[in-house]
Amino acid sequence: MSRSEALFERAKQVIPGGVNSPVRAFQAVGGNPRFIGKADGTRMMDVDGNTYLDYIGSWGPMILGHSHPAITEAAVKAAEQGLSFGASCEAEVEMAELICQSVPSVELVRMVNSGTEAVMSALRAARGYTGRDKIVKFEGCYHGHCDSMLVKAGSGVMTGGAPDSAGVPKGCAADTLTAVYNDLKSVEKLFSEFPGEIAAVIVEPVAANMGVVTPEEGFLSGLRSLCSKEKALLIFDEVITGFRLGFTGAQGYYDVTPDLTTFGKIIGAGMPVGAYGGRREVMETVAPVGQVYQAGTLSGNPVAMAAGLAQLHILKENPDIYEKLNRLGDCFRTKLSGLLEQYQVPCQVTGVGSLSCLFFTERPVRDYPSAKTSDTEAFGRYFRYMLSKGIYVAPSQFEALFLSAAHTEEDISRTLTVMEEYWNHPEV
Ligand SMILES: *Cc1c(COP(=O)(O)O)cnc(C)c1O
Repeated sequence: MSRSEALFERAKQVIPGGVNSPVRAFQAVGGNPRFIGKADGTRMMDVDGNTYLDYIGSWGPMILGHSHPAITEAAVKAAEQGLSFGASCEAEVEMAELICQSVPSVELVRMVNSGTEAVMSALRAARGYTGRDKIVKFEGCYHGHCDSMLVKAGSGVMTGGAPDSAGVPKGCAADTLTAVYNDLKSVEKLFSEFPGEIAAVIVEPVAANMGVVTPEEGFLSGLRSLCSKEKALLIFDEVITGFRLGFTGAQGYYDVTPDLTTFGKIIGAGMPVGAYGGRREVMETVAPVGQVYQAGTLSGNPVAMAAGLAQLHILKENPDIYEKLNRLGDCFRTKLSGLLEQYQVPCQVTGVGSLSCLFFTERPVRDYPSAKTSDTEAFGRYFRYMLSKGIYVAPSQFEALFLSAAHTEEDISRTLTVMEEYWNHPEV
């Protein structure tokens, strides 16, 4: 038995399913999860001494690759001054200033400890501000695991077998309305069915939790006009896209201004961090200024702030990183599409910038129903082959493939070579 297998056996005795987050369980693809001991750049080393070329990047935070020395140093230095104060510190002010200066729609921002918490709090602020209860979300978009967002959710919920979660009160789900991604009419219909009741529309500006589905021309700007007309708030969940599609996130990339934005992942550089922010008037409903209560023992934690700030400073001072990432992503998608054509593989390549996805379906993917036509068995076979060759992609069809600034053209070439071997293999 390998050390990973032994650890998984122990884990299953004391942790539900042996994992602290369902997407890590390999349930959708078969096989045993690898236990990672160490990661550096694009490489992850498991406890058995196997090395993997990593395309998950901790599900997004590691945009500069693992163990970036400047980030590690910043975190260590901060840790030496104290792990948590439960009082204000300078780093959280710097973090808030940096976010507000970088993302023009954000005038006030509150730090929290995860993307889930950011979304949960942003929804509460939206409801508090508008005095309305209903929220529109899109099928296949994932916004963390708070009750009201586990309706037609993406990510692990998509492969978990059940579309919704047990334990979510009916009343909670009743205030969540679902629309179809890239389909403005489906949103218009909800606004006409529930006039004056919808507090906010929340969307992943690039849907990256049902695989990767990019917004079609006019979709995001259409949501903007619709929300303004109906006096509902537009919330961009930029937990993945924030500081990834560029320093101004998806809202800068697509030039659409939301009322509220949620962040996570990259702004913590691998530490547990989230944030929500937006228009001053809306954010001033949050306590202690306003009546919307939201708090956190460890929010704005000095070590997490130091790590996140170190990463954001590097990104800010080196805009060429985004150019490189976007170029690498385009190059990967173009070459992969070429391979699929050459070997007549019925798959779709989607993505934008450093987010990509290979869907095992013949149909073009533009929303949740088309993403769901993917052959997850075929994905599982592909995943196991890639892993056996030391290439670690997400253990689910419905996740993104993340590039980091540490990835090189050689990494991409090697990956494409392994993919080519796979499709070239007679028995595949
Ligand atoms: C990951 C993610 C979340 C949840 O963040 P956690 O830190 O896992 O709670 C929310 N929204 C989106 C778009 C995400 O990708």
